[in-house]
Amino acid sequence: MHEAKDTSDKPKFTRFISMAAFGNEEKAKALYAFSLPSIDTAVEIPPGTTPSPFASHDRSSKKRAHDGSYSRFQQDERDHRPRKHGRHRSPPPGPDKCFFCLSNPNLSAHMCCSIGDESYLATAKGPLPASDTFAKEGLNFPGHFIIIPLSHAPTVISMGDPTDAESTAVRTYKEMTRFRESLQAMLAKRSEYKLGAVTWEISRGRGIHAHWQLLAAPADIIRKGLVEAAFKVEAENLSYPEFQTTDLTLEKQVEFGDYFRVWVWADDGDSKIKGTSLVMPLDPDSRFDLQLGRRVMGKLLGLESRLVWQNCVQEEEEEKEDVEAFRLAFKEWDFTLT
Ligand SMILES: [Zn+2]
Repeated sequence: MHEAKDTSDKPKFTRFISMAAFGNEEKAKALYAFSLPSIDTAVEIPPGTTPSPFASHDRSSKKRAHDGSYSRFQQDERDHRPRKHGRHRSPPPGPDKCFFCLSNPNLSAHMCCSIGDESYLATAKGPLPASDTFAKEGLNFPGHFIIIPLSHAPTVISMGDPTDAESTAVRTYKEMTRFRESLQAMLAKRSEYKLGAVTWEISRGRGIHAHWQLLAAPADIIRKGLVEAAFKVEAENLSYPEFQTTDLTLEKQVEFGDYFRVWVWADDGDSKIKGTSLVMPLDPDSRFDLQLGRRVMGKLLGLESRLVWQNCVQEEEEEKEDVEAFRLAFKEWDFTLT
């Protein structure tokens, strides 16, 4: 399906279907029946849409430059705010071009650590901490992960009915939570409770492929409330909506709409677990800094030189070594192995 060129503000779509010649010897499909969508539904960009093949070269080069910002394992989902002056936005990438979809042939498969039934776990490309940042806490890998649903959908809630325990949405949410809790437990145990974890997600209806980022962080700064404070201060500086301390269940998300969430977790080894969830409601049309989580945590951890993930990309060999080291550490907690 292609986005066709048009001069109005509203995107229009053309569906191209290749058919064989009528009466061909191979008996390939030569007839196709379809119903036309209504005007209203045509305004939403349908899934699987590709750019117009008739767009100018100038536009395609701009598109390539734009695509460069949407990279695997980082929250660089493209901003789909409607543009002014009648210019068209490109459609979001489909699964073949999505850097979180396992079906993408260009996927960095060597960064996948564990694949479950509904989601998978990967190490972050250009991780915020280096492989030795948490060496004295017992980590020989960066401790920055992405938990990714297998379904290509902008939010978990868009995957199905949150009240149906068998729906893809519920099953995906449960398994992503299981990955998060397994990672938290591994980090605490391995570091002798010196490390906790901070997980964040941007959930927006116009996103591309939902995912959570999980980062190891010193347990003492979590226990002292410094992580929550840092997120709140940054939100205030940027005049973002205020954070709410709430446990946003999947069912509640239906009414909540778009949001940015941070889970802060630390265990002191004495069964005193600190677990907080901060949620910032987001207006669907507002701008939001997709690197907020990384920036707040980078400043807090004194990793200012590593705020831009593109500057931290490792050689493939190093990425493989980190995955190997992590897999060994995670073996005991990896529920997909049993
Ligand atoms: Zn995808």
